[in-house]
Amino acid sequence: MKNLTFETLKALINTPKRVAIIPHINPDGDAIGSSLGLSNYLVQKKHNVRIISPNNYPDFLKWIPGSDKIINYDSCPKEASEFLNKIDIIFTLDFNSLNRCGEIKKIIENTSAIKIMIDHHEQPEEYADYIYSDTKMGSTCEMIYHFIERLGDGKMINKEIGTALYTGIMTDTASFRFPKTSPTTHRVVATLIENGVNHSKIHNNIYDNNSVEKLKLIGIALNNLRLIDSNASYITLSQSELDQCAYKKGDTEGLVNYGLSIKGVKLTAIFIENKEEEIIKISLRSKGNIDVNQIAKKYFNGGGHKNASGGKSYDSIEKTVNQFKSIVSSNKDLLND
Ligand code: 5GP
Ligand code: MN
Repeated sequence: MKNLTFETLKALINTPKRVAIIPHINPDGDAIGSSLGLSNYLVQKKHNVRIISPNNYPDFLKWIPGSDKIINYDSCPKEASEFLNKIDIIFTLDFNSLNRCGEIKKIIENTSAIKIMIDHHEQPEEYADYIYSDTKMGSTCEMIYHFIERLGDGKMINKEIGTALYTGIMTDTASFRFPKTSPTTHRVVATLIENGVNHSKIHNNIYDNNSVEKLKLIGIALNNLRLIDSNASYITLSQSELDQCAYKKGDTEGLVNYGLSIKGVKLTAIFIENKEEEIIKISLRSKGNIDVNQIAKKYFNGGGHKNASGGKSYDSIEKTVNQFKSIVSSNKDLLND
């Protein structure tokens, strides 16, 4: 750990380098948007930049300018490693624990490159030489905007950067709905729109590109939605239900929010079976003081934010649901508050 000052970092970024940008595994709109926004900026600064994603990401993000150049470590490990072996700087975006970048973890641990973390999740690990962590931020994309501004390059935030950043700000705040959406968030997106970003088109590209199969999967998920004691809920999706609807990566994104939209519900979860990985993927959401980051950490090998977190279980769906029910019952006081 070198503990760089911002001024040293600025000097580093002002001369061309070989730079890798790493989003978290199973990247979402914020991870991909922040990577593409930062990459476009660094290319303008004459750096040699590659975004290396630990694995594939949903098709509904594949229209963002520059996304065709993202290297997928899972499918092209040789090309990715060759680049990663000769880098000067590595940015890790939208995660703060090396367990969140799959196989790339080992490379980051062993590289002599300068490591820069930009992230908004709770309790950052100390693996980076420069840590820009702000848990009050609703998205890493908003942080990239502030980062470029602080470097004195706000004028370089063009339409392409703006489009990438707007996408992640919109998806991570659930369209400006979550509490971390601030007046500053709105000022940032206002500036992006003034710079030519077509917010309506972005919304359309992300949310109105559904297949019929995906809508049928939503139908099954809603049919499987169950209430626990009127203030908690959960959804399950088995592998056979996913197969029945020709499941593609990203099809279940956002489904967990239905459980939290029920009047009086403060805690919800979705349990999605993944036979190939032999896990149940879990997403947790809450309102107010119920800290799902702690629940994900303590019981489900995961983490995230206070009101939105994720993890996994190695038990069956039934056992995992039962575990969730007992967590709900031991948090009755908080839920009834
Ligand atoms: P989601 O439920 O949408 O997959 O994730 C919600 C939040 O929790 C995101 O900020 C995501 O980065 C984080 N998250 C999801 N899965 C995991 C996990 O397995 N480990 C950790 N540490 N965070 C996770
Ligand atoms: Mn994020």
